[in-house]
Amino acid sequence: MANLETVKKIGIVLHKTPVKEADAMVNCLGPDGRFSFYARGVRKAKSKNAFSLSELTLGEFACVSSTGGLLTLKEAYGNRNFLKDDDFDAIAVENFLCELSSHIFFEEEGEGASYYPYLLEALEAIKEGFDPLSIAFLCLAIALREVGYGLEVNCCVRCKSREHITAISFSDGGFICLSCYGQGEDSAEDEYLLRMYRYAFRLPLGLMRKNSFRKEFALAGLIELEKYFADCFGYHLNSLRFLIENC
Ligand SMILES: [Zn+2]
Repeated sequence: MANLETVKKIGIVLHKTPVKEADAMVNCLGPDGRFSFYARGVRKAKSKNAFSLSELTLGEFACVSSTGGLLTLKEAYGNRNFLKDDDFDAIAVENFLCELSSHIFFEEEGEGASYYPYLLEALEAIKEGFDPLSIAFLCLAIALREVGYGLEVNCCVRCKSREHITAISFSDGGFICLSCYGQGEDSAEDEYLLRMYRYAFRLPLGLMRKNSFRKEFALAGLIELEKYFADCFGYHLNSLRFLIENC
């Protein structure tokens, strides 16, 4: 018999990709970053693991590792589900967070470990009833920052001045001051929105519930940042459209 090592993983289920008739590939994010495993029979109605593998469940997953490193689920233990299924805005944002988190950390196993505590904080905040749109904006900014696409929000990205910040340039990667404004494709921004960017890209862990944003600005910021995301990664987050139409 082949030598199979048992591996225990902890994480939040983000996405399941159906395979064959009843199996699925399950993507998760945990304290050690992104991981995925193969789950046999999980899409059968009577599967004992179905609850533990539902989206946004924080659980423990005992897997066997083949020599090639592929993990196959042996047993799942769901500890907590974050889905706020009594609130449509919250569901739309949670969908968005699942798509964002499972797509932005895609290059290698283990990526996204530094983002995981923020995701946990975000899901706890939504579950408690904190404004989900503000959380969506913050998470998008933090995920971009953690993957190396953060924006310079402390000073003008061109001349380093901290005075008279008036615009943002996504192609240059940060704030633009009044003197430098207009040299490229800068978009002049409302002061409120600039403050939101500064707050989001500098946000430390544990302060996500400190401020919420006005709805029209949260939506405007999300649309703008998602466009930046698409420019960086070459595809759009489809769940944003659903979020905008329904929130
Ligand atoms: Zn400048």
